[in-house]
Amino acid sequence: MFEKIVIANRGEIALRIQRTCREMGIRTVAVHSEADRNLKHVLLADESVCIGPAPSAQSYLNVPAVISAAEVTDAQAIHPGYGFLSENADFAEQVETSGFVFIVPDPDAIRTMGDKVAAIRAMKKAGVPCVPGSDGPLGDNPDANLRTAHRTGYPIIVKAAGGGGGRGMRVVHTEATLLDAISLTRSEARAAFGNETLYMEKYLEDPRHIEIQVLSDTRGNAIYLGERDCSMQRRHQKVLEEAPAPGLTIEQRHFIGERCAQACRDMGYRGAGTFEFLYENSEFYFIEMNTRLQVEHPVTEMITGVDVVQEQIRIAAGEPLSFRQEDIVLRGHALECRINAEDPENFMPSPGTITAYHAPGGLGVRIDSHIYSGYTVPPYYDSMIGKLITFGPNRESALARMRTALDEMVVEGIKTNIPLQQRLCEDPAFIAGGTNIHYLEKKLGL
Ligand code: ADP
Repeated sequence: MFEKIVIANRGEIALRIQRTCREMGIRTVAVHSEADRNLKHVLLADESVCIGPAPSAQSYLNVPAVISAAEVTDAQAIHPGYGFLSENADFAEQVETSGFVFIVPDPDAIRTMGDKVAAIRAMKKAGVPCVPGSDGPLGDNPDANLRTAHRTGYPIIVKAAGGGGGRGMRVVHTEATLLDAISLTRSEARAAFGNETLYMEKYLEDPRHIEIQVLSDTRGNAIYLGERDCSMQRRHQKVLEEAPAPGLTIEQRHFIGERCAQACRDMGYRGAGTFEFLYENSEFYFIEMNTRLQVEHPVTEMITGVDVVQEQIRIAAGEPLSFRQEDIVLRGHALECRINAEDPENFMPSPGTITAYHAPGGLGVRIDSHIYSGYTVPPYYDSMIGKLITFGPNRESALARMRTALDEMVVEGIKTNIPLQQRLCEDPAFIAGGTNIHYLEKKLGL
């Protein structure tokens, strides 16, 4: 097992990874920007290295700086968390050629899954159901593209093969606007992702977002840890997640989970991964695979008892999975509210100093957050300041605990989206369960 790991991230996820390292007796190196000297995990780390100024392009995305931090501290492995360099295949490759272990996928797997056209091709081959569409990249021939859209049936969605974070997509309702939409999305994709490849999918109008968590080791073992429902979204960004997905049957879970695990075995995938699906009329449609730890992994941990980060580290060290599929028993229900430093009305980021903080607690309450009273939320990074997770024997209980915990949670000095999360947890349709990906925006009148 590793003796020392560099955590190449910040905020709540850096702290969450550090906690597991501690538990496993692994020392940690926190790499941070000049603006992040007072981050909780930096203060708690065995060692810390400042890798550059506040803008992430000069610090958290600075590949040579991250790798030299591993060199000067004599670490053996680098955990990238999520975001930043976590799905950068070139980074993973450089980590390995520099003699360190990347936690955890193989650079080639990151590269394949980072190209959504290649990912869909790999999934089709493995028997994972996909959204009907162009079956490959769109060419430059307008007539051919019009024919593809016609065959797929409007509305369609034009997507960038290199897209991510909810960007690089455009919905097209009529033939008259298709060609303009393609050229607009193409130039956006070129500017944002340096890759102008586009593809087309049927735009599903009433889907839920359901994703499967997998773990796959280097010895040919792959298991699925059930699903998460992440349908509560604003601008394609998740706001509240839960596990299991309301209403999904054991047979459906087994069917789709087993296909994902088999796809991992076929690909020789290593690490934790998430297969994201749209789910409509009891059918699953693959949209993408994330080759990293996800923000919402705690809901899966709560209902399975598996520490996903610990398994990632074990897999990276070449150890076998600690569990077989039959050991995975889903128990109870978990919810996660993302807590953002933002105005709950207009969603503008709200950085600043937290003057008072009271964390909620009690049975079935988990908080993954780096904030403390006196901490200043910098304006340079993502506005998420923590995740409030509740667990209960069933969904009603997890929801009741979430309402209590949200009421108990006090963050003063900055604005947060806690009022929005409170509204959601009181919403009759959400309480009933099974709302689709458009529900939140409709509710907010967006
Ligand atoms: P990203 O990598 O940017 O997260 P995804 O392909 O995962 O992009 O899609 C993100 C979100 O966009 C989905 O959760 C869903 O809300 C919406 N979306 C993507 N593809 C479709 C589709 N074919 N039909 C309807 N909505 C879609």
